Amino acid sequence: MRRCIKCKTPTGIFIPHHKLSLCKEHYVEWYQQRVETTIRKFRMFTRDDRILVAVSGGKDSLALWHALVSLGYEADGFIIDLGFGQFSEDSIHVSQKLASSLGRPLHVMDLNKEFYSINEIKKKDRRPICSICGTVKRYFINLYAKKLGYQVVATGHNLDDEVAVLLVNTLSWNVEYLRRQYPVLKEGNGFVRKIKPLCKTTEMENRTYVEVNEIEFVEYKCPYSKGATSIEYKKFIEDLENTSPGTKLRFYSEFLRKVYPLLQKGVEDQGVKPCKVCGEPTSGEVCAVCLIKQKMSG
Ligand code: SF4
Ligand code: ZN
Ligand code: ZN
Repeated sequence: MRRCIKCKTPTGIFIPHHKLSLCKEHYVEWYQQRVETTIRKFRMFTRDDRILVAVSGGKDSLALWHALVSLGYEADGFIIDLGFGQFSEDSIHVSQKLASSLGRPLHVMDLNKEFYSINEIKKKDRRPICSICGTVKRYFINLYAKKLGYQVVATGHNLDDEVAVLLVNTLSWNVEYLRRQYPVLKEGNGFVRKIKPLCKTTEMENRTYVEVNEIEFVEYKCPYSKGATSIEYKKFIEDLENTSPGTKLRFYSEFLRKVYPLLQKGVEDQGVKPCKVCGEPTSGEVCAVCLIKQKMSG
């Protein structure tokens, strides 16, 4: 039986790539400390900033919200009701439960009421559903953060997500995307600051954190997530990690340390300007959400 390295209590929690055994109490302390270190290292925000956590009802975003509030940050939740039946209902239900136990507000936006449901849009838009959903979510999260007076939006992207995206972009040398793969996207040009405080914690670490804290979350995936290529990449990365623990963290951290700064040299402003219709930031004349609106109205 392994014992906690701090208090010597017998424990089943072991983190291979850090070679750490911790009891529940010390695991929570270690996890929160790791999140705090990431926030400070990348200068994500200060105690004066109001943070809006984009939650989905999944383990990662709920772990993030719980950890930020436990660390003393002013962090509230935001969820979009995507209208995906039981999945959306469950997602909102667990997020509301956490909101009450944290004593923080959860803002819920009903996409169907305020815009169009994803399923309706899909009937007139031939892009993959996740691409439509991603565009719409990014737009409304940014818009709501500004409307509600939050300076920062935090998302629950974890190390596994970041490594999968990094691998995909490296395999095709997609320099434009690699140039933007950083845990902080600065505010400006109509965008609030976007941050990923869980970029150095794995999916498994987030799962352990919610389980230890008895936070209810939606265990099953969105009904439209099937076939996402990132799942295949994640399996491949997991095999590498099992053979050589620490590979994921090294790949990502060394990219940020050695490659990311090189990619910033000589980068011009991306040419973001206000959308001619709604005034929200876009790289074209009319933003992607206004283009959807135009398609929907015929
Ligand atoms: Fe949207 Fe579901 Fe795709 Fe996620 S998996 S982007 S929630 S459609
Ligand atoms: Zn302990
Ligand atoms: Zn627009």
